[in-house]
Amino acid sequence: MRFLVTAGPTQEPIDPVRYLSNRSSGRMGYAVAEAAIEAGHAVTLVSGRVNLTPPPPATVIPVTTSDDMHAAVMEQIANTDVLIMCAAVADYRPVTVSKQKIKKKSERLSLELMPTRDILGSLPRDRKFLAVGFAAETNDVEKYARKKLQDKHLDLIVANDISRADIGMESADNEVTILFRDGQIKKISRTSKKNIARELVKIISNMKKNV
Ligand code: C5P
Repeated sequence: MRFLVTAGPTQEPIDPVRYLSNRSSGRMGYAVAEAAIEAGHAVTLVSGRVNLTPPPPATVIPVTTSDDMHAAVMEQIANTDVLIMCAAVADYRPVTVSKQKIKKKSERLSLELMPTRDILGSLPRDRKFLAVGFAAETNDVEKYARKKLQDKHLDLIVANDISRADIGMESADNEVTILFRDGQIKKISRTSKKNIARELVKIISNMKKNV
């Protein structure tokens, strides 16, 4: 199967030296790409800026902004069987990007922000590929993940609790709850992101076979 995996943070420029971003190491997405390759799938990795080496057989499309990521996903989607959106896409971006470095002053400074385009939200509804999302939540993890699953018309969503310091963002380990469209729930207790990725690829491969 052909996997399209997004990973890492997007960066939304404010001026030539500053940007808005999310805390994301990209490790979960890179682990998913590696697990899919291990399982014999073809992988395209759309990656925000991270300090990781992509698994060699993957085709890598480097991106910076959410608009870049949106364009890369839309371009690849026709050749995709499974889309896994691991990326921590910024939810807002500055309305204007200053061409010159904004000078420091003693007064307060306000930035006007606008929502970025939702990549999963802009996918076609009648589709042949599976769409998998991630939900990083600090509270009511399952409730918010289920809402995202429904709002974004996903086949499954992988939720993790980022209020804990030992798992999730920028950590080597994770503990996740996988929510399916039919209401089924599967928990994977704390283990390496590599093991979570392997389990996830197994689940997705079985789902795709049954489609
Ligand atoms: O940011 P949020 O928690 O809503 O992200 C949930 C899912 O939606 C993730 O899989 C993320 O990659 C995806 N997303 C997206 N486009 C955005 C924001 C998030 O596809 N603009």
